[in-house]
Amino acid sequence: MIIDLISDTVTKPTKGMLAAMMNANVGDDVFKMDPTTNELQEKMAELFGVEDALFFPSGTMANQAAIKLHTQPGDKLICDKYAHVYNYEGGGAAFNSGVTCKLIDGNRGMFTATQLQDAIAEGFGIHTPFTSLVCIENTTNKGGGACWDFSELEKLQKVSKENNLAFHLDGARLFNAMVAKNENPKQYGELFDTISICLSKGLGAPIGSVLLGSKAHIAKALRIRKLFGGAMRQVGFLAAAGIYALDNHVDRLAEDHKKAQEIGAVLEAASYVTKVENIETNIVIFYVDEKIGDENFINTLKEKNILLTPMGQGKIRIVTHLDYTDQMHEVLLKELKNF
Ligand SMILES: *Cc1c(COP(=O)(O)O)cnc(C)c1O
Repeated sequence: MIIDLISDTVTKPTKGMLAAMMNANVGDDVFKMDPTTNELQEKMAELFGVEDALFFPSGTMANQAAIKLHTQPGDKLICDKYAHVYNYEGGGAAFNSGVTCKLIDGNRGMFTATQLQDAIAEGFGIHTPFTSLVCIENTTNKGGGACWDFSELEKLQKVSKENNLAFHLDGARLFNAMVAKNENPKQYGELFDTISICLSKGLGAPIGSVLLGSKAHIAKALRIRKLFGGAMRQVGFLAAAGIYALDNHVDRLAEDHKKAQEIGAVLEAASYVTKVENIETNIVIFYVDEKIGDENFINTLKEKNILLTPMGQGKIRIVTHLDYTDQMHEVLLKELKNF
């Protein structure tokens, strides 16, 4: 038995999900004739109370399409220094859109409306790049699954609007945030110009992300998706997995969060752990003391078929997910206690 806690992307489709995929009614989605993809898009748009939605092969492509549709080459976007769009998308903002990133020195991937205002204020005059977009991430990945305070997001939206900046949410794990904080999708749909959501993280689909927005924004995104090579044919087999995930795998995210808390409690009590970051969703970030060292710790657990990720600067990451069973949980807790 391998206990893979590297990411919530390691899950494989469940039997029920595979059956839904096998039975999907499909057509050519480039001609908008794939009924299952259309159904997923309509379902997501309705859930978030927005006009339209578009299926993408990856969250990266959905974010990159959003950046492209909100900006012109030479512009800049504002995001946190931990942002996925800046750190983990291969330099795509620069490559695909010719956009630079102004990084805010936030806390666990989150910043305040005042910090945004300061960042905007630095950007006027003919010398500086034109600012056109603000990117938010919820939950924050590099920030350890932290969730934003919704009232701060409302303030950020106000500042963005007053400054004519588009407001994009990288919501790869937004469902984790909504479950943890008892929020609803329509709150988010109202606040943001565009939202990207991953179906392939905690929701357990093998592939797929959805971009949400107005009819005008999604029409632009459709063209950009073609340009990026992301227009697909009988993709309903994958959209069916997404529909199944939305119907069956949202509420159970609370279980992943509970397990993450239990892992955190064991780590807190362990003598070799120097710090556990606050756990809000399914990501646990912690540090072990220098005598053990993060690499050594990870390698020792690897010999026991327990896989964790090093995050740099001594950080170690554990991510709980759909395929992390109660039995694996028991084994892990025991190994961590006895380390
Ligand atoms: C995973 C992730 C994405 C998208 O990643 P893909 O692997 O391209 O689907 C985007 N943003 C955040 C915060 C993520 O965690």
